[in-house]
Amino acid sequence: MAKAVKQPVKKQRPRTCVGCGEESPKRTLLRIVRSPEGEVRYDPTGKANGRGAYLCADPSCVAAAKKKKSLSRALKAEVPESLYDELTALCAEKGGEA
Ligand SMILES: [Zn+2]
Repeated sequence: MAKAVKQPVKKQRPRTCVGCGEESPKRTLLRIVRSPEGEVRYDPTGKANGRGAYLCADPSCVAAAKKKKSLSRALKAEVPESLYDELTALCAEKGGEA
């Protein structure tokens, strides 16, 4: 049993929305990251260190993630109420483009 897992060439993994469970092209998703310090926040760069989770830029997905606590589960951290508000506001911004 080899324990050392060699990381193969990094492939673009599909990003799954924790709200609706559907895969989407990354650019349409909001990335939420839990920093190594344990802070949960929206990651506008998509490159912040830490554990990430993704949500469609859709208020219904934000609401679903909140209701099901799927975002908290994905990040293994408490998600502050204010972050959901922030994400919902971001959806309104991003949704305008579509
Ligand atoms: Zn979604």
